[in-house]
Amino acid sequence: MPLSITHLGSGSRGNATLLCSEDAKILIDQGFSGRQLEKRMNRIGMSPSELDAIVVSHHHGDHGGGAGIASRRWDIPIHCNFTTASHLGLDPTGNVELFESLQRIELGEDMSLLPVPVPHSGAENVAFIASSGGQRAAVITDLGSSTEELANHLRGCTHISIESNYDIKRLWKGPYAESLKQRISANGGHLSNDQTGRLLADVVTEKTKSLVLTHLSQENNLPHLAESTVLYHIEEVFQGDIAISLQDGPEFTHWVGQSQLETGMLV
Ligand SMILES: [Zn+2]
Ligand SMILES: [Zn+2]
Repeated sequence: MPLSITHLGSGSRGNATLLCSEDAKILIDQGFSGRQLEKRMNRIGMSPSELDAIVVSHHHGDHGGGAGIASRRWDIPIHCNFTTASHLGLDPTGNVELFESLQRIELGEDMSLLPVPVPHSGAENVAFIASSGGQRAAVITDLGSSTEELANHLRGCTHISIESNYDIKRLWKGPYAESLKQRISANGGHLSNDQTGRLLADVVTEKTKSLVLTHLSQENNLPHLAESTVLYHIEEVFQGDIAISLQDGPEFTHWVGQSQLETGMLV
């Protein structure tokens, strides 16, 4: 069975991404209440009690706020780095496994995750590169800029889920206070549609089968703007499918290494 990836929801009100291989079912981030997580997993015929691990990218509430609750309720181990654990108040002697950046986390017989550090102010955030059955998939969110190290790990991934947070014109003309606008667009904030497009132009090849744009700002972005801006940068090489995951998922499942058109596996 190829690795599957399903966003249970994405945005500033909560993020959770489900990765399933033959042997392992893991959640990257858990920013929902226990009830919401259960409801969203039930929609695809699953229960949180089936999860083998919750892996948390950073401590912000929309990514880690529901990790402790879910861990206790369904007895699921949490994997995160030390900074994230201490910000979330997780007991290091409890059901927590600490990882270091760039050290592979083995999850079950057939899946591993590589945490790659990314700049995000006030947080020790990481992107994850999942490997399973010879395929690699990336899940990247909440970063103000790319790094050469991240780009190197993204090359060769057949699936990339990446944030496309804001449209630069909408942000500057929008209702946010000047200081917040500065923070979002700074190096440690979030990626704009244009920055995401440029990063993808650097790493996408004809082997990239699927892309998902995530964490769109409800105030400063629109799905068609994110998609058209990103495609503008990559259309000459990219031949896979592109989708957008919004706040209320799950909306679809990708089988890593295949395009949606090949599988027709829309949930
Ligand atoms: Zn976030
Ligand atoms: Zn964040």
